[in-house]
Amino acid sequence: QAHLDRIGVVDGAVHAFLHVSDHALDVAADIDKRRSAGEQLGELAGVPLAIKDVLVTTDMPSTSGSRMLEGYMSPFDATVVARSRAAGLVPLGKTNMDEFAMGSSTEHSAFGPTRNPWDLERIPGGSGGGSAAAVAAFEAPLALGSDTGGSIRQPAHVTGTVGVKPTYGAVSRYGSIALASSLDQVGPVTRTVLDAGLLQDVIQGHDPYDSTSLTDSWPSMADAARAGLRGEGLAGLKVGVISDLLGSGIQSGVLSRFREALALLEKNGAEIVEVSAPHFEYAVAAYYLILPAEASSNLARFDSVRFGLRVEPDGGGTVEQVMAASREAGFGPEVKRRIILGTYALSAGYYDAYYGSAQKVRTLIQRDFANAFANVDVLASPSAPTTAFKLAEKLDDPMAMYLNDVTTIPANLAGVPGISVPVGLAPEDGLPVGIQFMAPAREDARLYQVGASLE
Ligand code: GLN
Repeated sequence: QAHLDRIGVVDGAVHAFLHVSDHALDVAADIDKRRSAGEQLGELAGVPLAIKDVLVTTDMPSTSGSRMLEGYMSPFDATVVARSRAAGLVPLGKTNMDEFAMGSSTEHSAFGPTRNPWDLERIPGGSGGGSAAAVAAFEAPLALGSDTGGSIRQPAHVTGTVGVKPTYGAVSRYGSIALASSLDQVGPVTRTVLDAGLLQDVIQGHDPYDSTSLTDSWPSMADAARAGLRGEGLAGLKVGVISDLLGSGIQSGVLSRFREALALLEKNGAEIVEVSAPHFEYAVAAYYLILPAEASSNLARFDSVRFGLRVEPDGGGTVEQVMAASREAGFGPEVKRRIILGTYALSAGYYDAYYGSAQKVRTLIQRDFANAFANVDVLASPSAPTTAFKLAEKLDDPMAMYLNDVTTIPANLAGVPGISVPVGLAPEDGLPVGIQFMAPAREDARLYQVGASLE
């Protein structure tokens, strides 16, 4: 009730939610009953959860921020949602996002932007700005997001929250409306690293419904966070600072908070070394070919027959005319831009020059990570180059928007886990700053431990 009240007070201004559940209190009451009846429930039982609208739910609409899916009701729950319900979490509502998770500001939502609770004139990051803003504004204690090129970590950075992109394959993508299948990963957005660990413990693990889901058994991320809170694991830990990500375009206050956090780690026993990842400078370019290519293919399913919006020109038309009219009306400008880019990059004659080259760059970036991790335990960088920018500032400049992802994209291209942890406010504008840590694939626990040690 407290969270519903809080949503009632602030969400008119913040607009973190696209839909608020009308039966959250009934679900909560039911969990209370089960607990009184002596049922053993997990640590998060009864805790409200905000869910990014990219994740399908049977009891609330799932739009992925698009007119194409306005009012769409899924016949099944995403695996992460089903697991959250089974653990007794209480779905509170669906959070706003850039349309089909394309963006870094949540301004590409078809249903209006979300605002940053720290400064309502600024963006909450994207694409998962709704989840991050809900957590930052105390509308929800925990949220789920999805991260294809930074959509969990960058919103966490600009809202002073914790965001984790797990190892690719650690968390099921089943029921996460696909953006780029080789990059998408679901993860937690929370106020503390321990909270994130508790939530990852609920959602991680093999899912036969996702063919890229890993069959590993995972350690408890909450336990790793608790070890970090006790200060364990820092003695002798080698932290690699990626010099290639400190070059141009990092705001001075972002850099100074980053350096302070490193100094703190060093004081507590970690060793800071500089490492080079020479191909990271091509990561944004490669990503913005691979992502549109995969997205153009994934979004082909929105054909006006199987899902969502259907527009019939002059009350009829051929299959092609209905499809064209529906896609014209249902998709926003950024989605259209990427479908066109992706279709072009994949077309015969251009495939090798664009998509093929981007895949080769992806391999080189994976090798940069492998070389770096041969010498260090974790890598560190600022989570994003700047603090929250102003609404509309980059809306008409797609390149400027894309460049904001420079620090987060490499982890997605390599499938390695990344965490953003708040490290204070930038002195020049008083806005939140995050530090990003990355670890080798499957070493998510290391990130929770190092991240929590800063809290
Ligand atoms: N900002 C990136 C993009 O626009 C990240 C998106 C995401 O992680 N879903 O593609």
